[in-house]
Amino acid sequence: MAVFKCAECGAVLEARCKPAKCKNCGAEKDKLVKEEAPKKG
Ligand SMILES: [Zn+2]
Repeated sequence: MAVFKCAECGAVLEARCKPAKCKNCGAEKDKLVKEEAPKKG
């Protein structure tokens, strides 16, 4: 599972692959920045 953060609204989306759009604000995928998935021991 990867985490993508929207640069427009700051929403964090979890998905197996890059979403086409931000679910929150509808920003296009080039606004979505992949982040490292949080790893907790
Ligand atoms: Zn957004």
